[in-house]
Amino acid sequence: MDLEQARERMIAEQLEQRGISDPRVLAAIRMVPRHRFVPPELTEHAYEDTPLPIGFGQTISQPYMVGLMAEVAAPLPHERLLEVGTGSGYQAAVLARLAGVVYTVECVEPLYLRAQRTLAEIGVTNCFVRLSDGSLGWPEMAPFDVIVVTAAMPGIPRPLIEQLAPQGRLIAPIGVPELQTLVRIRRIEGHLREECFGECRFVKMVGKHGFST
Ligand code: SAH
Repeated sequence: MDLEQARERMIAEQLEQRGISDPRVLAAIRMVPRHRFVPPELTEHAYEDTPLPIGFGQTISQPYMVGLMAEVAAPLPHERLLEVGTGSGYQAAVLARLAGVVYTVECVEPLYLRAQRTLAEIGVTNCFVRLSDGSLGWPEMAPFDVIVVTAAMPGIPRPLIEQLAPQGRLIAPIGVPELQTLVRIRRIEGHLREECFGECRFVKMVGKHGFST
């Protein structure tokens, strides 16, 4: 099976046909070998229209959701971005092709270690991975122009709002463990403006501002 061909088909059928049209987002997704971020036994499924298990009860998000979040966040080449929930590192790699620098936080040590290794192996040099509770953000590196949360949260934690730069955008799945709404919060002239981008399902955020387990 030709993985590059599978990736092109994924971009055409799962992203473009469903309305993802930002050329920078499509180019970023084209540059990242998604199959390197899934367990070896799932390589041939890497470009399918679905989340996939990556161990420890966690998943790599569906390609469409990665594209949608990137399009809605619209990171620019000079911007600083925080991702909460590194998981496999795939989404961080895509975002690192769009933003100037990506800081990403994971709380499961083996996932943190593996993501760090995969990102280095594929040559992503502008992404820094940290092992900690990402519901608290990464205060030492704040402020961030963009914050992308990739685990479901009951609400937006105050620390993340506090770490959002003026003109910043925060994208997160907000709701209950079974179902969330993809929310974008923008800081515009000192006010917070909230918009919704449809329903979604992410794994649960744990930690101080996550769901209790
Ligand atoms: N963006 C990822 C998918 C993430 S799945 C990818 O591209 O593969 C959500 C991840 O969030 C899981 O790996 C989970 O361990 C992590 N997570 C959950 N709660 C967290 C917290 N409080 N801090 C950091 N990471 C957290």
